[in-house]
Amino acid sequence: LTRDFHPRPSIIRLGSGLRIGKDLAVIAGPCAIESRDQLMKTAKLVVDAGANILRGGAFKPRTIHRSFQGLREDGLKLLAEAREKFGIPVITEIMDARDIHLFVEYDIDIWQVGARNCLNYTLLDALAEMKNPKPVVLKRGDHVSISEFLGAALRLYDGNTKVILCERGDKTVDPVYRNVLNLNNVAWLKKRYHLPVLVDPSHGTGVRQIVPDMALAGIAAGADGLMVEVHHKPEEALCDGAQSLSADFKKLTPLVRQVFELRR
Ligand code: PEP
Ligand code: MN
Repeated sequence: LTRDFHPRPSIIRLGSGLRIGKDLAVIAGPCAIESRDQLMKTAKLVVDAGANILRGGAFKPRTIHRSFQGLREDGLKLLAEAREKFGIPVITEIMDARDIHLFVEYDIDIWQVGARNCLNYTLLDALAEMKNPKPVVLKRGDHVSISEFLGAALRLYDGNTKVILCERGDKTVDPVYRNVLNLNNVAWLKKRYHLPVLVDPSHGTGVRQIVPDMALAGIAAGADGLMVEVHHKPEEALCDGAQSLSADFKKLTPLVRQVFELRR
């Protein structure tokens, strides 16, 4: 995966025409899909703000198993509906190889492997063995070294070259933050390797107030795009409200404008 063998950055083209690795990718949406009303409202705000990929979790890897686990297949269905309605590609997390058929059925544009499954080799191998694979975003686990991360990426890459890396922070002892966004990794991965790199300042901080600044810092460090969590009513979100920007024009729209300006 190093630039020694592949000097030019990899470019991954989506059906929408967006070239990840060349065009700035701005992924925004709720942590979890909660209802049709919530997803459609948020999707409209996300599209109007100028983001170019819609996110929304249908299968949620929650710390406490009694908390909201996501709408599962119904969530995928809603996400596919939002894609048709707003003409925007969608990304959602796959947690289990047994759900692959559902992701195929709803034709999910980008499949996310979350931080918790970053080193889940059976899941990665199942994805790498797919016949017509979609692009995969691989999020770095909060304890995962660069070499482990690249090992995981290579496992996917040997079956599916459409691999996109995502930095979402290291664990920290400081209770102010959920994680600390590791911008060293963004700069290092971009300098040394050819895969596109995204930053997720939402999970990388856990704190809404600093998400826009850390998003800009990630782009300044060389990231090819962002993943940010937004909600039309963050204080009522079923998951990750504290790190979600309100999906209105006060926060998301200026951020999207600023990242595009910074990238130019
Ligand atoms: C997410 O993006 O919804 C998510 C669960 O992120 P992570 O895997 O980085 O915790
Ligand atoms: Mn989340």
